[in-house]
Amino acid sequence: MTHPIDYSHARFLQSAPDLARCPPDDGVEVAFAGRSNAGKSSALNALTRQNKLARISKTPGRTQLINFFDLGDQRRLVDLPGYGYAKVPATVKRDWDQNLAEYLQRRRSLRGLVLLMDIRHPLREYDWQMIHWTLEADLALHLLLTKADKLKYGPGKSTLLKVQQTLEAEGLGGFSVQTFSAVGKTGGDTLESFLDRCLTAE
Ligand code: GDP
Repeated sequence: MTHPIDYSHARFLQSAPDLARCPPDDGVEVAFAGRSNAGKSSALNALTRQNKLARISKTPGRTQLINFFDLGDQRRLVDLPGYGYAKVPATVKRDWDQNLAEYLQRRRSLRGLVLLMDIRHPLREYDWQMIHWTLEADLALHLLLTKADKLKYGPGKSTLLKVQQTLEAEGLGGFSVQTFSAVGKTGGDTLESFLDRCLTAE
């Protein structure tokens, strides 16, 4: 499939600790969020076909920052801090939550959120928190069930269906869900199609 945006052009732009220090709020962006270890860096690297791109977000001191990647034409990908990291003290977590909520709710150029969850542990408590913030902010939401290669086809498919059914039961059937594997190189086209829609809409 051909896509209107070449994601391999992504370049690190800047990091920000809070909304006030984000780059100018012009153009359009899509953010990536997920628990630590959900496979966010691997997905970003696979998407941008750059082995080291998301390593920037993992360097000590940057893990709790919002990291921006420029795609050109006033479009950006945004890597949000991985959450659920047990070693972080409660006070830091609270600040973090507040910064994250504020970014999601007040960032005008933000069009959508990709929420990454390990296919073996979907829809944990904090994932729901993110889903509700996204809903409140009226953003597009796309759920990525990562590391799909860890499950055989049957169990993978039934997890996907179960997640879809759970969302529908909560009245959230409009959100899209897919399986993805950075290792198996599957799901990339579907992810790009979601991003294309968010980043090219007027
Ligand atoms: P992050 O903390 O969300 O950025 O997660 P990483 O991308 O660093 O991945 C966490 C761990 O999961 C690493 O050991 C990765 O090698 C592994 N991982 C990430 N994506 C995949 C995948 O698609 N398949 C498999 N089998 N492992 C993966």
